[in-house]
Amino acid sequence: MNPPSILVVEDEETLAESLRFNLAREGYEVTVVEDGRQALDTFRAQSSDLVVLDLMLPGLGGLDVLRQLRASSQVPVVVVTAKDLEADVVAGLELGADDYVTKPFSMRELISRISANLRRASRGPAPMASLVLEAGPVAMDVDRYEVRVRGKPVDFRPKEFELLEALLVRKGRLVHRQVLLEEVWGMPFYGDPKTLDVHIRRLREKVEDDPRSPVWIVTVRGLGYKFVSAD
Ligand code: CA
Repeated sequence: MNPPSILVVEDEETLAESLRFNLAREGYEVTVVEDGRQALDTFRAQSSDLVVLDLMLPGLGGLDVLRQLRASSQVPVVVVTAKDLEADVVAGLELGADDYVTKPFSMRELISRISANLRRASRGPAPMASLVLEAGPVAMDVDRYEVRVRGKPVDFRPKEFELLEALLVRKGRLVHRQVLLEEVWGMPFYGDPKTLDVHIRRLREKVEDDPRSPVWIVTVRGLGYKFVSAD
């Protein structure tokens, strides 16, 4: 079986090269193009298993590329947007994008989105066993992008999901603030570190019986957070 092929549409040269390198290292077959016209031509010529599409492109914009792709194909599309362009994310999802990351993103985040979307799209006979992280009331199916709290499905926004994953893979251990910021929001971290506390509060609202006195997602003062392990 051939490795999955990924078409990357990105005009920023450094980022494009880094994507090419990292995705190839993950075992994908990677084609990188730098504008929308090339993207459509390339996709028509060779088709791809997944498209990573920057929305800010010179000439034919990313949203137009997406619209034209969707006219003829259900290929999974992960869009890349600037952090402050929430409207683009909404438009992209409405036009049929499957997922998105916002710049700056971590390579790990993008790779996990790519593999989750490829898996979701594949109609192969035996799906691989998915990775389920469990602690306390939470069961998180990373590949299916699903979280259950006390057995009930609960929606988590992408950053909340990443943050929960970063805590759960280290359950019972202190996770330093800087580690969480870089892993979830990208490295180097440029933003307001308070964003971490805001997202922790949202996680607590979804996970804790009483978010004001958390028993699962606890603060380790001055250092970071810990997801308490029941076992
Ligand atoms: Ca761009």
